Amino acid sequence: MTATTGRRLLLVHAHPDDESINNGATMARYAAEGAHVTLVTCTLGEGGEVIPPELAHLTADREGTLGAYRIGELTKAMAELGVTDHRFLGGPGRYRDSGMMGVPDNDAPGCFWRADLDEAADRLVAVVREVRPQVLVTYDEDGGYGHPDHIQAHRVAMRAYELAADPAHRPELGAAWRIAKVYWNRVPRSVVLRALAETAEKAPFPGVAEPSDIPGVVDDELVTTVLDGAAYTDRKAAALTAHATQITVDGAYFALSNHLGQPLLTTEYYQLVRGQAGPRLPEQDLFAGLDLDAPATAAASAPEEGAR
Ligand SMILES: [Zn+2]
Repeated sequence: MTATTGRRLLLVHAHPDDESINNGATMARYAAEGAHVTLVTCTLGEGGEVIPPELAHLTADREGTLGAYRIGELTKAMAELGVTDHRFLGGPGRYRDSGMMGVPDNDAPGCFWRADLDEAADRLVAVVREVRPQVLVTYDEDGGYGHPDHIQAHRVAMRAYELAADPAHRPELGAAWRIAKVYWNRVPRSVVLRALAETAEKAPFPGVAEPSDIPGVVDDELVTTVLDGAAYTDRKAAALTAHATQITVDGAYFALSNHLGQPLLTTEYYQLVRGQAGPRLPEQDLFAGLDLDAPATAAASAPEEGAR
C-alpha cells in the first residue's frame, strides 16, 4: 500500500515550460517543504518556435529534433525546482504538440488535440492511482488562453480526476483514488494589469504582452488561493532560463518567442474548483483544510463536492 500521509501534489501541463511559467514558485516551494511533487507533461512541445538563432536548426521544419531537446530543458528546469518525479503522458513522444489553434498540425495524426479523451485520461488515471495526490493543478476549460494542447490537458486532467475515483473503472490501473482538491491556474486581472504596466515601463524587451497573452487571467473574486513563492524567485527564474529555446529571462521579466515582455510572477494564484476550501479565504496553501494524517479511506468514499 502506498504511503497515505504526507503532501502529494500533481500538476498536469501541455508542454515543457508551462509548469515553470505557471507554477514554478509553487513547485519549488512544495518540493523544498518535503511534499512529493509530480509533473505530468502531455507533449514534448516539438511544434514550438526557437528563440536562440544557434538552435534554430531544431525546429519541426528543419531537423525536427526540438522535442528531444526540450526533454533536456525540462530535466534541467526540474532540477532547478527540486522536482524529481516528472513524466510524459503515455511516455515521451506519445502525443505530439498540436500547434496553436487553427494551424494544420491540429489535424496531424498522433497530435494531442486529436487524442481519444478516455484513452489519454486512463494514462493519467494510472499515475493518479499510483501517486495518490491530494491536490491536482491544471488549466481551466479554455486551457488558460485557448491553445489546443492546453484545452486537451484540462479535459484529460478533469476526466482522469473522475475516473480515478471510480472503483468500477479499470481496476487493473490501481486502487481507486479520490483527489481531495482540484485547482485551476489563475492570475487576478488587477495583478496582471498592474504588473504589465510596470513591465511596459521597466522591462528590457521591445514590446509588452497583452493581458490575453497571460494564461488564466480572471476577475479577482474567482481567485481562492494565493501562493507566496517569493522565497523561490531565483528557482523559478532558473527554471524558466532552463527552457532557453522558448523563454528569455531578464531580471524580474521574461519573454516568449514573440519577444513581448511579461512579469515573472512569484506569487502564484489558483481557483479551487473541486473539494472543500480551507478555513480562511483566500487560502495560502493548496493543502489547506486537509487532514493528511487521516487513514486512507481508499477511494470514492467522499461524494463529489463541486466547490463552485
Ligand atoms: Zn504550452
